[in-house]
Amino acid sequence: MTPISSLGEFALIDRLTAALPKQNDTTLVGVGDDCAVVCYGGKPVLLTTDMLLEGIHFDLVYTPLKHLGYKAAVVNFSDIYASGGTPRQLLVSIGLDHRISVESLDELYSGLRLACKNYGVDLIGGDTTSSLTGLSLSLTAIGEAPEGGAILRSGAKDTDLVCVSGNLGAAYLGLQLLEREKKVFNNTNLNDETAAQPDFSGYDYLLERFLKPEARQDIIVTLAQAGLRPTAMIDISDGLSSELLHLCKASHCGCRIYEERLPIDYQTARCAEEFNLNVSTCALNGGEDYELLFTLPLAEHERIAEIADVRIIGHITRPELGALLVTRGEAEEVALKAQGWQACAN
Ligand code: ADP
Ligand code: MG
Repeated sequence: MTPISSLGEFALIDRLTAALPKQNDTTLVGVGDDCAVVCYGGKPVLLTTDMLLEGIHFDLVYTPLKHLGYKAAVVNFSDIYASGGTPRQLLVSIGLDHRISVESLDELYSGLRLACKNYGVDLIGGDTTSSLTGLSLSLTAIGEAPEGGAILRSGAKDTDLVCVSGNLGAAYLGLQLLEREKKVFNNTNLNDETAAQPDFSGYDYLLERFLKPEARQDIIVTLAQAGLRPTAMIDISDGLSSELLHLCKASHCGCRIYEERLPIDYQTARCAEEFNLNVSTCALNGGEDYELLFTLPLAEHERIAEIADVRIIGHITRPELGALLVTRGEAEEVALKAQGWQACAN
């Protein structure tokens, strides 16, 4: 028997979904993008689903349920924005074990409600079942495609500029802080009143980025207002390197990214130093940023420069050149690797 770990998540998805013949003209885009796209009455509709499992995606020791509800909704909306669209409806399915109280579920739903209110989305249904293995959440968002159709991962062209919104690595370091305090807490004698209290001072932004992320609706609106339509787009959920490789693979191209152009917040840099981590590695491989990564034609250079909170980090190249990171001071070029979460902690 072949263990799943020998394939990895993406090779597994490729294997399971290989050669799925399209049986309906209403299916425009299937597996392989941030959203599937279906078309009814001449209008393209975006669909995306995500599953969150206790112990894998969240730890109830340090995750307030209201935040969890908010985040679960927002990460789904992020995939709709990554297709250039607007989320409109949400379906929420939950698996519950006996530890979860009614009050906790009220909290979870207060977070879901707040996210739906903030992003203008209707919660229209779902499913509720019991679970033997903790809390599980499965959310499906439905959205409207932008004018001109969904923006896919596959449209990047040679010489396009590679852009990223916001900053990277903050959520990863927020998680490191929470994990560190959890360890301190586990080792603390509860009768000891002098025991250390959690020390998050100066790092509130990092905690917020991990516990209560926002999807970049504002960037989609700003780009549309500026008349800029990305040639390709993806949201950064698994880390910049991983998403760049997805975008390059789907677009049959390579890229050159400049380490010194990576957008990093001051708190991220300071915290990485405290943990003795390389901050660029955190920005490249830390997950859960939910920023947007997109490409635009080189000719738009000046107009992109005018957009607040968007940075050009490199450019698209021919596929044979590969996906490369140019290290600080142009010292060397190294191949980008989808190292995922673990590598950053080493
Ligand atoms: P994202 O990070 O944007 O949520 P994923 O990496 O989870 O995207 O998924 C990549 C693509 O693979 C998406 O198009 C998704 O719909 C598809 N996919 C993931 N898991 C499965 C599965 N078990 N069966 C079919 N398609 C899947
Ligand atoms: Mg995505």
